[in-house]
Amino acid sequence: MTALLEVSGISVSFDGFRAINNLSFSIGPAELRAIIGPNGAGKTTFMDIVTGKTRPDEGSVTFGPRSISLLGMNEARIAREGIGRKFQRPTVFEDQSVQDNLILALKAARSPWRVLFWAPKPADLIRVKELAQEVGLADHLPRKAGELSHGQKQWLEIAMLLAQEPRLLLVDEPAAGMTPAEREQTTALLVSLAKTRAVVVVEHDMDFVRRLNCRVTVLHEGAVLAEGSLDHVTANPQVISVYLGR
Ligand code: ADP
Repeated sequence: MTALLEVSGISVSFDGFRAINNLSFSIGPAELRAIIGPNGAGKTTFMDIVTGKTRPDEGSVTFGPRSISLLGMNEARIAREGIGRKFQRPTVFEDQSVQDNLILALKAARSPWRVLFWAPKPADLIRVKELAQEVGLADHLPRKAGELSHGQKQWLEIAMLLAQEPRLLLVDEPAAGMTPAEREQTTALLVSLAKTRAVVVVEHDMDFVRRLNCRVTVLHEGAVLAEGSLDHVTANPQVISVYLGR
């Protein structure tokens, strides 16, 4: 299988400290992958590199046929290229309805330079409904986003990212702060999204990672320490010692 995202020998130092140290790994086009690792392992820096926020000192990142470094390290450009990033805290427009949030997201995706002149056509409104449906919010379109539960806001933000038609979705701790029922729905959502695009979940919560039932990459000191099923990596003595601090 040809990789969608290929990270090859990347390193990044901050003031002489190597946050990412010769990191290499790849992700397939319709793959769900969990990235775990202790605090300071380099997970956020990795996402910053893939989304063009941080430039690696060495190595290459390719997305499909393109080199991320050649995309000018422009975050908006990289997003349009098909990489969506969901931060931990939902950033929806609380005063606007779910529908208007999705319309704004479509606007930004369809007409990034002429947002003021863009008005949704009937086909766009159908797309808005589909997006809401994809994340289980079809019955909530008229509600103010501020009235949604924490979990529903997270799903709305995912739907807003989907407006950009990403081929790779990076999601930071999607289940943090959710109720058990919302966590279960989020698991199903991520599994379903990964059928047609790559989804990378950065997660601390091992119980949630277990539910995702996917390949796991363990980062430590900016490099891959172990990779495989959760059972495989958690049986690795090096992983155990890193997590127990021994
Ligand atoms: P994680 O997300 O796995 O907790 P990070 O990628 O945030 O890890 O951080 C990796 C290491 O790089 C940490 O030791 C962190 O302190 C350091 N680091 C990250 N960003 C910066 C920065 N902008 N300046 C200095 N050090 C940084």
